[in-house]
Amino acid sequence: MLSRVSIFIIGFLYTLSTYGQQPKTYSSSEIYQSVQKLNFLGTALYLAAHPDDENTQLISYLSNGLKARTAYLSITRGDGGQNLIGPELRELLGVVRTEELLAARSIDGGAQFFTRANDFGYSKHPDETLAIWNKEEVLSDVIWVIRNFKPDVIINRFDHRSPGTTHGHHTSSALLSMDAFEKANDRNLFTEQLQYTEPWQPKKLFFNASWWFYGSVEKFKEADKSNMISVDVGTYYPNLGKSNNEIASLARSQHLSQGFGTLTSRGSTIEYLELLKGDLGGNKIFDGINTRWTRVKGGAEIEKILLPIEENFNFVNPAVHIPQLLKAYKLIGDLEDEHWKKIKLEQIKNIIAACSGLFIETTTNIASAIPGTQIKIQANILNRSEVEMELSKITIAPNHKEFKLHKFLDNNNLETLSMDFRIPEESKYSNPYWLNEPSSLGMYMAPLELRGKPRTPIAIPTIVTVIIQGIPVDFQRAAVYKYAKPDEGERYQPFEILPKVMINAKDNVMVFADQQPKPLSLSVTSATDGINGIISLETPDGWKVSPIEQSISIPNKGEVKTVTFDVVPPKGESQGSITPVVKVKAERYSKELNTINYEHIPTQSVLLDPSVKVVRSDIQIQGKKIAYVMGAGDAVPESLEQIGYQVDLIRAQDITSLLLKNYDAVVIGIRAYNINKTLKFKQHLLFDFVKNGGNLIVQYNTVDRGSTGPSNLAPYPLELSRQRVTDENAKVSFITPDHPILNTPNKIIAEDFEGWVQERGLYFAGKWSKEFHPILAMNDHGESPKEGSLLVASYGKGYYIYTGLSFFRELPAGVSGAYKLLANMLSMGEQDKTNMNTLNN
Ligand SMILES: [Zn+2]
Repeated sequence: MLSRVSIFIIGFLYTLSTYGQQPKTYSSSEIYQSVQKLNFLGTALYLAAHPDDENTQLISYLSNGLKARTAYLSITRGDGGQNLIGPELRELLGVVRTEELLAARSIDGGAQFFTRANDFGYSKHPDETLAIWNKEEVLSDVIWVIRNFKPDVIINRFDHRSPGTTHGHHTSSALLSMDAFEKANDRNLFTEQLQYTEPWQPKKLFFNASWWFYGSVEKFKEADKSNMISVDVGTYYPNLGKSNNEIASLARSQHLSQGFGTLTSRGSTIEYLELLKGDLGGNKIFDGINTRWTRVKGGAEIEKILLPIEENFNFVNPAVHIPQLLKAYKLIGDLEDEHWKKIKLEQIKNIIAACSGLFIETTTNIASAIPGTQIKIQANILNRSEVEMELSKITIAPNHKEFKLHKFLDNNNLETLSMDFRIPEESKYSNPYWLNEPSSLGMYMAPLELRGKPRTPIAIPTIVTVIIQGIPVDFQRAAVYKYAKPDEGERYQPFEILPKVMINAKDNVMVFADQQPKPLSLSVTSATDGINGIISLETPDGWKVSPIEQSISIPNKGEVKTVTFDVVPPKGESQGSITPVVKVKAERYSKELNTINYEHIPTQSVLLDPSVKVVRSDIQIQGKKIAYVMGAGDAVPESLEQIGYQVDLIRAQDITSLLLKNYDAVVIGIRAYNINKTLKFKQHLLFDFVKNGGNLIVQYNTVDRGSTGPSNLAPYPLELSRQRVTDENAKVSFITPDHPILNTPNKIIAEDFEGWVQERGLYFAGKWSKEFHPILAMNDHGESPKEGSLLVASYGKGYYIYTGLSFFRELPAGVSGAYKLLANMLSMGEQDKTNMNTLNN
């Protein structure tokens, strides 16, 4: 029986190798590198805020160059970013980016940790960041990782001395690291952790300095470097056939959701490390730290066995080292130092298996099942050496079901076994552990023993015990789903335990501009055969649905049935959420199924709350037909349709005067001029459309530092800036309260700026000509008012509007004030047209 501590540590080691992936096999060169790592007892932790902050060159150098145990602690999972490869945002994007980090680490050789901090979006200052995160809880997670991983050296990506010059999350990560370095060894702090782990004092804390923090390459050249050491991370590794930076580039290119597919860098590259805490001890990262076996009691004897293997490694027949490796394995098992014992046992077991070509996998023939299902687990075990081996037993956790076998494993004779296993009724569903409970704006929830881990532990771990030359060795694996795809070959993915039924609503937000009922369509997916249940909707006060409930029967596993309810809003303004529930006998099911499916990361299901936000708000609209030119992608068109507009998506290349004649307004999607190179050549047609009485709304476009954005963005001079207001609750004042845009057809009041999410807006206009009227003023704490979030200019008979307000976030979140304001923007000039028609009649 493993202790809880060892489960934690083994989980840390094993999540990379057995989570729904093909078992890794090793060439002689890779085994040799593993032996080198086995003989290095030093640990380094790299620390920053987001997926992609990490310096993969340095991580790869630590792991492959120095052979150190290396990990990256990313304070967040990057939930707040953009997704360039698919629709996942927020929690789901956090899962994608977690997996991308793990994919990067599987290439550069590091491990991966996180805290519970939520990437809530951009923040300008660490004070704001640490107020939204729970500072003590994030610190406790950093200390938890330090106490478990026990790094000798910690390296910060960011400078704790430069608040306000970079993302507040970045500076916060460095500040937390400084604090944790001082507190991790204090046994009076975070005492709840000490039932699982011990205090730990790292020896050195570095800042990974870079010219960027000094303003320019020249300034950095001249900077005082007496407290810095330098390392060349461009080393070439002949036994791997790659240089360190080639490996690092491959790792970095796993961040595909962020568009980081990069060219490979090669050649000498110098990294600088500035000592912040501890003693330098020399000019190398681990100088002054004993990284040999002699650092542990009883290690000298082990070193005497293992160093000669490294020095005289047999690349032709590595199996010759097995007797000596087994001798060392026994000695490691007797070590008093529990920490190194567990780490080194796992390493040496893998080396023993690799030297003998021992292949072990446990697979299922189905991708998922519900608790209580009887499944078949197949074990494929193959000894590819003359080493004497006996397959002793296979244990299937979690209920320790043992299959005693006693089969001799002859050289290259595949042993295949099929075992029946009933998934325990009380099994938890497979789901990212931090998404099981509702989170706050700044923090996810997680039980202590799971904190820090990149993933939820695998659903069905297996332990295969092989007696090698008389010594029993336990190999831990996971039961993974293995299948063949005719167009791709052999595939592996994690085996999952799912609820009987899952419910997905067509829309996650429904906005009612009047009292008309709207249909809510739900698809119900069955994870087992023969589901018979009742589906109903739990509604907030004043909201009604029809019918009250419906019976649903789904004969086959994997089948999807669609049901539709009518949602009837109340008369007055109201908002709340509707929760769909399926009852099967006395059991209640209410989970939404999301599938993450990309080439570069494992396929997996994510279960979320299926609730639908419903908003009833009196939103008046004028004008009906809108053309929308999509930019980077946003959900503004669907949102506008919800309140009664007819929206056509048009492509920039299709824009003609004739086409535009069909519309009351044209709306340009976010970052359209950044992304679409054709659009700038259509500006004259769009301006003519405005001149003839149309209405053009341009949403934010990004500008590089020192730039002022696209040159002919507007019919009058208009320069963009990098100004943004990140506090979604920042006070908004009306510069021109009488302007129609704040009055017609909806009267905009202060309450309309309540309940906004993530931010007010970004890339505000910085300079504009006198034809523009600024409408709103707002600013983040401690800054001067910014007036460029919403500008209106009349041009000919129509109106041109630029806005940096985050409608692309607020509308999909059902913020009624944002709907009213955008409806007014779309209505500009419509009242003139109505008056005209009245005159003409
Ligand atoms: Zn970052």
